[in-house]
Amino acid sequence: MIRRRASRPLQIGGVPIGGGAPVVVQSMTNTDTRDVEATLGQIRRLHECGCQIARVAVPDIKAARALPSIKNESPIPVVADIHFDYRLALAAIEGGVDGLRLNPGNIRRREQVAAVVKEARDRSVPIRIGVNAGSLPPGNEDKPTPQRMVEAALGHIRILEDLDFDLIKVSLKAFDVPTTVEAYRLMAERVSYPFHLGITEAGTPRTGSIRSAVGLGILLAEGLGDTIRVSLTGDPCDEISVAYEILKALGLRDKGLTLISCPSCGRTEIDLIGLAHRVEEKLLTLDRPIKVAVMGCVVNGPGEAREADIGIAGGRGKGILFRKGEVIRTMPEAELLSALLTEVDALVAAGERQEAVTGLGES
Ligand code: SF4
Repeated sequence: MIRRRASRPLQIGGVPIGGGAPVVVQSMTNTDTRDVEATLGQIRRLHECGCQIARVAVPDIKAARALPSIKNESPIPVVADIHFDYRLALAAIEGGVDGLRLNPGNIRRREQVAAVVKEARDRSVPIRIGVNAGSLPPGNEDKPTPQRMVEAALGHIRILEDLDFDLIKVSLKAFDVPTTVEAYRLMAERVSYPFHLGITEAGTPRTGSIRSAVGLGILLAEGLGDTIRVSLTGDPCDEISVAYEILKALGLRDKGLTLISCPSCGRTEIDLIGLAHRVEEKLLTLDRPIKVAVMGCVVNGPGEAREADIGIAGGRGKGILFRKGEVIRTMPEAELLSALLTEVDALVAAGERQEAVTGLGES
């Protein structure tokens, strides 16, 4: 069991963050925010993939003016990412966004920060302070980067606290995993605000997934982290599936497909790799937690995957369907995939019926 850090709770839209709430999965759109339809289309897709909060870049006033239309139609809370211009922050809050990502120290005049903070407080809009190792303020170059990141974040936090604002989240991102890990560890000793975790510029899905899994995995295993974003150079939906795999691997979320498949070996006599990929593809959008096994041989398969809710294992030209390690029936190889998918549908339907009965019982 992972003992999670006690962080202060807050809400982004209706989504609870911190205070023991489940770790929230976020992403960021890569469309032009001024293009409302394209941005909304991507947010809807992200939502279908399981994304809980979408962040959108607000580089100019035209993008800020698109926010009300985006926010009104978005199925999930929307966070506006703003860099230097306080007028964009005011317009975003006015436009109804659920959160801001903004570093107050980057806004030149104190009264401008105060104006933003007043509006954010009046509408209970949290602000994420996001420090990146690549854009640290000058000075203190002799200090280790994690320490400089923490000091930069504390500087931003102080500005908000001086204005009596505490709906704060913090992120401390670096490309380098040990730097990121150390920065969050240090920060955890200093503040109780919830943490948004990420490894920035992590790379393509192949390399970025691994960097993110290592970095976020270390932190999450230590109980640090209330929301996560896996940054990948690719389809934002890939970020969501990788994020959930990281959380599932640590037992922090239970959602959708958990695929158990063996690496195959000299005993394999079916197209195991093709089969495993087809199963993953078919069940990718599943929401209900289910463990599905695709194993290469009938001798070891069912036993090695006995925790699977349902599974298949191959023999010569034929295979078996098994549940919790027990064989249900044998069939030709060509029928394995469809038999497995039928069983998965039946398990999902049974789960839904059970939920409905429990729901009725409680009301
Ligand atoms: Fe080999 Fe069977 Fe183990 Fe797969 S389950 S790796 S085929 S022994």
